[in-house]
Amino acid sequence: MTMPQTSPEPRSGLDPSVLDELRTRLLEAREFHLSRIEEGSDAVDDIARAIASRSETALEEVEAALQAMEDGTYGTCLSCGKSVGEERLQAIPHARLCASCASATARR
Ligand SMILES: [Zn+2]
Repeated sequence: MTMPQTSPEPRSGLDPSVLDELRTRLLEAREFHLSRIEEGSDAVDDIARAIASRSETALEEVEAALQAMEDGTYGTCLSCGKSVGEERLQAIPHARLCASCASATARR
């Protein structure tokens, strides 16, 4: 871990009320995915299993975003360190990359 020696204050530039709302949405998403995974764990059909496996991936992203909120790194692009932007986080609460880094990754 190479965390810069800065203050632990969140630097996302997000309003605390926005952050609260996004945290609530992430927690709801976590519940949703956990129940999907549970349903899929003893499912015999491929569709339920496919849904469960997709939820496992999504859950990891949600957990990482919640962890980032704890760490105060939430809302900061993992790649370039700039703000992800409130608009993008409202659309994708678990986004860890800003729009330009995400599209660069998608094109890779
Ligand atoms: Zn970026």
